[in-house]
Amino acid sequence: MNRDPDCIFCKIVAGEVPSFKLFEDDATLAFMDINPANEGHALVIPKEHATDLYAVSDAVLARTAATAKKVAGALARTLAPDGLNLVQCNGPAAAQSVMHFHVHVLPRVKDDRLAMNWGLKLGDIDAIGRLAERIRVWI
Ligand code: 5GP
Ligand code: ZN
Repeated sequence: MNRDPDCIFCKIVAGEVPSFKLFEDDATLAFMDINPANEGHALVIPKEHATDLYAVSDAVLARTAATAKKVAGALARTLAPDGLNLVQCNGPAAAQSVMHFHVHVLPRVKDDRLAMNWGLKLGDIDAIGRLAERIRVWI
């Protein structure tokens, strides 16, 4: 499997960097974002390293979308958000900060005024871990 030794998400896939995992299969991994833009903010990635939408294969993209749908359903059951966005960023102007293809699964609260290019702010790690346990029940 293609891997970039300097990539933080490849390290998460390999278990070299800890994460609050929600789901994994042979091709994809879902885990909590440590800088949540909103409560329940999760990431879905292919296990194989591909930098962005242009680089990821159609087959892996489809698998990633299927996992994102699964995670969205679990988040909906856990948090009953007012809405939910899938967001995917390519390149610095689109606010891509990690160069390993990923999809943000982002619960929304009515009138939360979340901007497209939200800033990174470390969340409450214990609270994220507890929430991950509640979401996993629905996957
Ligand atoms: P991007 O800005 O590239 O679309 O999104 C990258 C996301 O990865 C950000 O939301 C950021 O909070 C998240 N992220 C970066 N490093 C880590 C990490 O080590 N662990 C986790 N769980 N998320 C990370
Ligand atoms: Zn990677």
